[in-house]
Parts: sequence; C-alpha cells; structure tokens
Amino acid sequence: MARIGFIGLGNMGGGMAANLAKAGHDVRAFDLSAAALEKAQERGCLPAASAAEAVEGADAVITMLPAGRHVRDVYEGSVIGKAPTGAILIDCSTIDVATAREEIAKAQAAGYRMVDAPVSGGIAAAEGGTLTFMVGGTETAFEQAAVFLEAMGKAVIHAGGPGAGQAAKICNNMLLGASMIATCETFALAQKLGLDPQTFFDIASKASGQNWSMTSYCPVPGVGPETPADRDYEGGFAAALMLKDLRLAMEAAQSVDAYTPMGAHAEELYTRFAERLGGAGKDFSAIIKMIDDSWRAEGAAPPPPPGVKI
Ligand code: NAD
Repeated sequence: MARIGFIGLGNMGGGMAANLAKAGHDVRAFDLSAAALEKAQERGCLPAASAAEAVEGADAVITMLPAGRHVRDVYEGSVIGKAPTGAILIDCSTIDVATAREEIAKAQAAGYRMVDAPVSGGIAAAEGGTLTFMVGGTETAFEQAAVFLEAMGKAVIHAGGPGAGQAAKICNNMLLGASMIATCETFALAQKLGLDPQTFFDIASKASGQNWSMTSYCPVPGVGPETPADRDYEGGFAAALMLKDLRLAMEAAQSVDAYTPMGAHAEELYTRFAERLGGAGKDFSAIIKMIDDSWRAEGAAPPPPPGVKI
C-alpha cells in the first residue's frame, strides 16, 4: 500500500483521509487545527508535526483546503521541493481556475505531476467514500491520481488539462445556484396563484420545467424526496459554500469575458441571503425563505420588495 501525505483535515478532508487509511494506505496527516489532527489519528492516520513532514517520502500528496491562498501557501511552502518528485500531487480543494493552473505549472517546472481534483458531494459523501472527482491534468497525471481518488469516491472523471477540474466544478455549481433560485421563485409564485405545491411538483417534474433542484433537492418541505428542507434546511450544502462557488464562477467568467447574467444575479441573491440575512450556515435551498417571505415572518430583516434591483 502507498504512503500518502494528507493536508487539510476539516469537514471534508477528515472523512477522505480516514477512507484512505481504511483502504490500507499509510496516511501521514497534517492540519493547523490540533483537534482535527487528533480526530484523524483516532481514525487511523498518523499525525505529522508539519505539512513538510507529512509529505516526506510520500507516493501521493492530497490537499483539501479552504481557498486558493491556502493551496498556494501549502504547495509553495511545504510540498514542492519537500515531497519526492515521483509523488503525484492532488489538490481536491475548490479554488479559482487561475491559481490551480499556476500551482500545477510550478509543480511541473519542479519535476512533479499534479492534478486539480475538486469534488461534488458534501460531508456525507466524503465520509461514505462516494464523492465525484472532476480532474484536470495530463493523461499520465490523471492515471496516477485516479488510483488514490477511487478509494474516496464513486466516480473519477478526467475533465481535461490543468484547471479543467475547477472549471467543471464552478460551471456545474453556477448552473445549480441559478436553477435553485428559479425553482424557489417558481414554487413561491405557484403557491400565490393557489396551486398546491405537491400537485405542482407532480406536474412540473413530468413537464419541461423538470430539473435536479426540484426533483432531487426540492426546497419545499414535505414535497418530493427527503431533502434538507425537511430538516429545517440543516445539513446539506451550506449557502456560504454556494456563494463561494458563485464568486469563483464570476471571477472565471470575467477572466475570459463570458456573459453570465443568470450566474451574476444568483451571486447577488446568495450574497444577500448568506451575508445580509444570516443564511450562511443553512442549506442553499433555504434561499426559498427569502423569496417566499417566510424569512420575514420569522423576524429576520425583510427581503427586497418585488421588482427591486439589488
Ligand atoms: P474546512 O474549513 O472544514 O477544512 C479546511 C481545513 O484546512 C481546516 O481544518 C483548516 O484548519 C485546514 N487548513 C487551512 N490552512 C491550512 C494549512 N496551511 N495547513 C494545514 N491545514 C490547513 O473546509 P471543508 O468544508 O472541509 O472544505 C474544504 C474544501 O472542499 C473547500 O475548498 C470547499 O469549498 C470544498 N468543498 C466543500 C464541501 C462541503 O460540503 N463542505 C463540498 C464540496 C467541496
């Protein structure tokens, strides 16, 4: 079995590192948080005193960090030049496309193979080993990385060259954010027009309005399969993380001069919901509460009046 340096043992990385240890790999783990490190040790990983120590003698280095700046700091400060050049470097964090490409270019210049491999699926999928990985990098780097990613996920897809994994991830999540808002406002309107939500669900899920945000992740409690809406929007995919991904998508759109009006509006609405109305920690489908007025009924700051540009 292989020796793996794993850096970033938070909500996602904790479960992923534990699954690698469970698969029989020798996992040398590091996190700035002592509590996260202790938990990883309880779950079969060997704690390292630093990121540089974790990657010593590694066959693979895997990182699961909050944002681009953390990825840059860790790779440039503790991985490149510290891990053996034969090690495959795998960044699973969701970060901006530009930083992903820069770090891969720097790693390649130093003689490494590296991929960006962001994930779809939340904390439960990280724990259960059922993540989907979207991988950017050369064919050889992809093949070398896939062996390790398969122990943490149900699907490993080669999206294209360096940065293509991040591009696929933010394009998918921009579509998801915009489709969730469209689904929420549609249910709010249907209800105000006197339609029963379950009846509307039954019709629209078989008609041309059908989409994943409605049929698999319905934002209305008690309608469709069980979703975070049935648990007062707890768990699931936090609105703060949806906002992070929408911001990355807008940054990427600007960098290539792409016109993304729905993505831009979704970013504005999630900014309002997550940062001004206190919805950051709720599942992203809770934005329906801002749209259908129920947030106001609970005593929070009022949503924008209909038709007002925000
Ligand atoms: P998290 O904040 O729970 O974990 C990040 C961990 O990185 C923390 O434990 C932190 O201490 C550690 N860290 C930060 N800087 C470090 C450094 N220099 N050295 C070592 N450790 C360092 O975040 P998370 O929810 O696990 O998310 C990780 C990544 O996965 C993010 O990029 C996020 O966007 C992405 N993601 C998250 C989810 C989700 O549902 N949580 C889903 C898909 C993708």
